[in-house]
Amino acid sequence: MPEVKVTDVRGNELPTLVESQKWKLWLAAALLAVATIGVLLPDDVARVLGTADVTVGLGALLLTFVSLGWAIYAVRCVHCGLRLVLYAMSNQSIEQWLQWLLMAKRCPKCGADHAGHKLPKA
Ligand SMILES: [Zn+2]
Repeated sequence: MPEVKVTDVRGNELPTLVESQKWKLWLAAALLAVATIGVLLPDDVARVLGTADVTVGLGALLLTFVSLGWAIYAVRCVHCGLRLVLYAMSNQSIEQWLQWLLMAKRCPKCGADHAGHKLPKA
């Protein structure tokens, strides 16, 4: 698929919609990685922490929901507040949602860019 360049009124290529919010996605990814370790190696983690493996499993499950909930709640369009992670997961295929989220340059609801600026009316 050819890449379509989206530009601002001066012709400069726009940063992606989530450019200034990528730290939120990285934080969620880091929490998910920790949760994954707890899910895959509950016995080892329980031994290190000195707790029961069921506690580690439940904690990992809770951490998974918290990190996904955080990403869904926190990554929004700065203009209209559309929850971009939820929108991407709901409206794109399972293979495409993350790519769409990381590549989108304008809000699908209001058309604003990463800074909340909308295209001037022609
Ligand atoms: Zn918007």
